Amino acid sequence: MKGLKDNSLQSVWRWFYESLKNKYPDYELKSVRKIFFEDVFDLMETDFVLKKDYRFTETEIVKIIKAINKLERYMPVQYITGKAFFLNNLFEVNENVLIPRPETEDLVLLAIKSIKNHFKNNKIVKILDVGTGSGCIGISLAKEIKNSVVHGIDNCREALETAKKNANNNEVEVSFKLLDILGSISFSESYDVIISNPPYVKDSEKQYMHKNVLNYEPSNALYIKDSEPLIFYNAICDKASKGLLTDNGLIFFEINEHHKDDVFNLLKQMGFTDIEVYNDFRSKPRFFKARKGLSTHQGRVKQVNKAK
Ligand code: GLN
Repeated sequence: MKGLKDNSLQSVWRWFYESLKNKYPDYELKSVRKIFFEDVFDLMETDFVLKKDYRFTETEIVKIIKAINKLERYMPVQYITGKAFFLNNLFEVNENVLIPRPETEDLVLLAIKSIKNHFKNNKIVKILDVGTGSGCIGISLAKEIKNSVVHGIDNCREALETAKKNANNNEVEVSFKLLDILGSISFSESYDVIISNPPYVKDSEKQYMHKNVLNYEPSNALYIKDSEPLIFYNAICDKASKGLLTDNGLIFFEINEHHKDDVFNLLKQMGFTDIEVYNDFRSKPRFFKARKGLSTHQGRVKQVNKAK
C-alpha cells in the first residue's frame, strides 16, 4: 500500500495512477483507471470531484491492490474486471476469449446495415458466426436483427460457455456449438449469412503485439502460421460454396490488412460476387462483404473509408 495516504476517493484515485505510471503511457493509464473504477465500483470520473466523503472499505482496497499487481504484469484491464463493452452492450470476458475490438464493431455495423437492405419482407435470416469467442458478433446481430436465427461455433469449449452466458445476459437466443471450421465436419444446415473474425495475426507479426495481448489473450483466437495466412478464409469459403451459405447469401470477414488482395482473389475465385472491401477507422483494409450468386458487377473492389 506504498504511497496511499487514506481511503478517500481522491487519494485512491491518485495512488492508483502513481503506482502504475512507470508501466503505461499517460493516456493509456488514464483510460485503464477510468475503466477499472467504472466497471468495478460504478464510479464515474466526475464522482472524484463530487463525492468528497466517499471512502473505500478495507476489502475494496485489497481488491484494488490485487488489480494493480495484475496491471503491473500487463494483464488487460478487461480480464481483471471481467467486463467489456461491444456496441454499448456488456459482455463477460475472460482469458478464454478475445476482448472485443472496436474495429469489429464496424464489421457488425456493416453487417447489420447490409442484412437489413438485402433480405426484405421480414424473411427469417439464418446467420452463422464462425469462431464466435465471447459471442459478441452473433449476439449483437441477434439483438439488432429481429427476424434472425443466429448460431455461433467455436473450437474452444470454455469460450462457448462464456458466449452462452453473454447471450443470456443480453437476453437473446443464440445457439452455440463446439465445432472446428477447419475440421472435416459436414453441416446439416445452410445459412443466409456467414460472418467471421477468425485468427489472422501471423506468427511473424507477434513481435509487434503489445505484452497485454501476447501474454494474456487466447493464442488460438489470434494467431496463424505465416505459411497459411488464408487458412480460415479458405475453409469458410470452401464450405460456403458447397452449401453452407445459401445462394444469394452474404459473407462478411474481418481480415489482416496485408492480405486484402489475397482474400479478394479467393472470394472471386470461389465464385463470390459484389465483393466489397472496407477500411477500418485507422484507414487499413479490414472488412470484406461478398455475395454468393450471379454477378451484378463482378470483381469490383469498392473502397469505403468507414464502414458506418
Ligand atoms: N485485431 C486483432 C488484434 O490486433 C486481431 C483479431 C484477429 O486475429 N481476429 O489484436
